[in-house]
Amino acid sequence: MTKWVYTFGDGKAEGGAAMRVLLGGKGANLAEMSNLGLPVPPGFTITTEVCTAYYEGGRHYPGDLADQVDTALRAIEGTAGRKFGDAKAPLLVSVRSGGRASMPGMMDTVLNLGLNDETVEGLAAESGNPRFAYDSYRRFIQMYSDVVLDLEHHPFEEILDQRKDDQGAVLDTDLGAEDWKEVARAFKAYVEKEMGEPFPQDVRDQLWFAIGAVYGSWMNQRAVTYRRLHNIPADWGTAVNIQAMVFGNMGEGSATGVAFTRDPSTGEREFYGEYLMNAQGEDVVAGIRTPLHLTVAAKSRNGSDGLAMEEAMPEVFGELQRVYKSLESHYRDMQDIEFTVQEGKLWMLQTRSGKRSAKAALKIAVNMVEEGLIDEAEAVRRIDPNSLDQLLHPTLDPDAQRDILTRGLPASPGAASGKVVFNSDEAERRAAAGEKVLLVRIETSPEDIHGMHAATGILTTRGGMTSHAAVVARGMGRPCVSGAGSIRVDYKAEQFSVGGRVIKKGDVITIDGTKGEVMFGEVPSIQPELPGDFVTLMAWADKIRRLKVRANAETPIDAHTAREFGAEGIGLCRTEHMFFDADRILAVREMILADDTAGRRAALVKLLPMQRQDFVQLFKIMRGLPVTVRLLDPPLHEFLPHGDAEIAEVAKASGMSEKKLRSRVATLYEVNPMLGHRGCRLGISYPEIYQMQARAIFEAAHEVAAESDSTVELEVMIPLAATKREIDILKGHIDAVAAEVAQERGRTLPYLVGTMIELPRAALKADEIAETAEFFSFGTNDLTQTALGISRDDSGSFLEDYLRAEIFAVDPFVSIDVGGVGELVEIACERGRKARPGIKLGICGEHGGDPDSIRFFHQVGLDYVSCSPYRVPIARLAAAQAALEEREKDA
Ligand code: PEP
Ligand code: MG
Repeated sequence: MTKWVYTFGDGKAEGGAAMRVLLGGKGANLAEMSNLGLPVPPGFTITTEVCTAYYEGGRHYPGDLADQVDTALRAIEGTAGRKFGDAKAPLLVSVRSGGRASMPGMMDTVLNLGLNDETVEGLAAESGNPRFAYDSYRRFIQMYSDVVLDLEHHPFEEILDQRKDDQGAVLDTDLGAEDWKEVARAFKAYVEKEMGEPFPQDVRDQLWFAIGAVYGSWMNQRAVTYRRLHNIPADWGTAVNIQAMVFGNMGEGSATGVAFTRDPSTGEREFYGEYLMNAQGEDVVAGIRTPLHLTVAAKSRNGSDGLAMEEAMPEVFGELQRVYKSLESHYRDMQDIEFTVQEGKLWMLQTRSGKRSAKAALKIAVNMVEEGLIDEAEAVRRIDPNSLDQLLHPTLDPDAQRDILTRGLPASPGAASGKVVFNSDEAERRAAAGEKVLLVRIETSPEDIHGMHAATGILTTRGGMTSHAAVVARGMGRPCVSGAGSIRVDYKAEQFSVGGRVIKKGDVITIDGTKGEVMFGEVPSIQPELPGDFVTLMAWADKIRRLKVRANAETPIDAHTAREFGAEGIGLCRTEHMFFDADRILAVREMILADDTAGRRAALVKLLPMQRQDFVQLFKIMRGLPVTVRLLDPPLHEFLPHGDAEIAEVAKASGMSEKKLRSRVATLYEVNPMLGHRGCRLGISYPEIYQMQARAIFEAAHEVAAESDSTVELEVMIPLAATKREIDILKGHIDAVAAEVAQERGRTLPYLVGTMIELPRAALKADEIAETAEFFSFGTNDLTQTALGISRDDSGSFLEDYLRAEIFAVDPFVSIDVGGVGELVEIACERGRKARPGIKLGICGEHGGDPDSIRFFHQVGLDYVSCSPYRVPIARLAAAQAALEEREKDA
């Protein structure tokens, strides 16, 4: 016989905290509290397996469930000394859902179940308090009608308000027994009118309909959507908890409240919460009356009137303190608790691990290690790496009003407000004049870098999570929403429209790059601060992790930020990003557009000293650490001049005629630039470009070495190679330049030449490639693009459909497609190692900052991940958690 029902209460329970899967979080914790001897009203939990069986059986319960429920009900009756449906001493129960994972708002609670026209009289007589009895009855009718009968709540509110008006009452507490009796009568009449049958008077019917409503709610649209968003499988099911009612509304010695054992927003070790005298649980949540503070300290800090619970009921408060302390030390975590006081006696109704801000999570974890409750590894395990974003970027004030215009992709975290501008020059000009501007573009290109830098944030209407805007904004730490496809930008009119509204240049908007929201007006934000607990916890994570963490960085600012956040080197210096400045882009364009080697060399001569200088700065900052410099990889369309003015400018600088230049631009135009003349293909066609870059790199390394006899661990990287032959040729050029420079300087410096693995062919032929390449770095942005054949720039238009259809669980440009792209990575690692044992392996695609992907990279045994500087702390923590998971598995 399957056991479907587990009882608890009276100092014992059939279940416990370890049975969360079967009993749901709420049921498991009620059982656990009972086992701890805490005051828990008796009750029972119908398991999550019943939910599954109910759906598998075509919405029928297992045959023996009713008997088990009856037995459990009799047990509660015994403990409580009351009987369900009894006219003299009726047992009332609450009915609550409770799954394995919390799903707030899926299904509300039904309280006071078991009341009918007869039992309400019994309750009135027994308690000597008819007001309390009828107040409870009308609450029950309203909740049952809402949750079980699915009736709207406002007609009930109207009936109640009408009664108050008739009686000249302002507050609910101004109403007496007769009023509640009349309200209950009117509620029932309304239900009968709506449902075509009377409000159920049979208490067993009430109970089974309520149970049915809980299980039915598991498959309602709201719950299905919530599960999809939070990756909760449908077959987990929900449990149902049925528990004897205790009453916080029995007069002045009664109360109800909620509390956190530590402050959930700061993490301070301070009991924190609210209570209401003479009320039932939902009154605290519903905000009908303003709840009061629990402690005198909180009351005085907030300058509130009204007695704190500590003053109003000191003895019960003392007991509550003992209870919360024992719960905290038992669960070794901050708890979120619910309690009721019935005529001076404390009852615990719930405990669970409390939700908290990132800052509080760090403080609580660090403090609990100091208090000896948990160890360092457990503290590291408890912090959600992605939540660190909250600490590193400004976030929107959670209490602020938001007028949401539309949504796009959460491309770079943080919140930013500013006046809308549509071009980068204007953004720079206005920012220099002290204005806060937000750059809005259809998409960005390298020539927008200065505007992106000047802006507080960036909004684009096209482009995915690895589009130019997204990658660059993340690197800079600028908030960015990309691919907001419902926005129509009209550059000419300097305005954009969305959902029938028009936003003009100069209007203020706010973006939330963490959520992808675009809002009208300025929404107040909260500035980040890095608490000391962050440093402590990060140091613990660093002791645990095996993966090294580097940063993707080119500029001195980014390199400094990277080091500040604990990067152990640079895993990707994208040299094309160093060409973005206004004074360089011209020479870069000259180089690209030159129609002969002489023209190209002339442009390269201009670029060499700038490149060298950039590397000198970078190498000084990163002295002693590995730095991977990637040779030029510009998708050509990002660099070609647009419009007459830019053509004229390049013509003037290069001495080419505008006409010739135009035809050159036309020749270079590519339909598919991402699969075009980019990466090492450029180096094959024009060896002088990579030769110039190699010279700049080696000269800079020598210059820095000469200064203090130490330099960086240099790694020169070839992008987008598919074959060994490409690398043979290009490595030949690089080695030759290195030898030349060494001879000129009279000294050799060590360096490695390696390649990115960004194409499926490169992954498959990794054994051949590793014969030449001395290291691999996985470029998972391009590898995802090429393995799936999905453009990293244009996938925004259909990716949502793919997520909705559950073809992808997550955007594969955000979290690595372990089954497909991941297998290519594994194959390349294995074949690369075979050809070159101990080959250095890293990843520098955007996945390097994604915790789930990092777990995978740890498992395949990469040496390091590299990500944008602001994600370095996230990666350090995620790498530590991956190592801990592995330890647990091995143990
Ligand atoms: C990649 O493709 O993953 C990569 C890091 O290179 P980029 O994003 O510059 O193409
Ligand atoms: Mg790439």
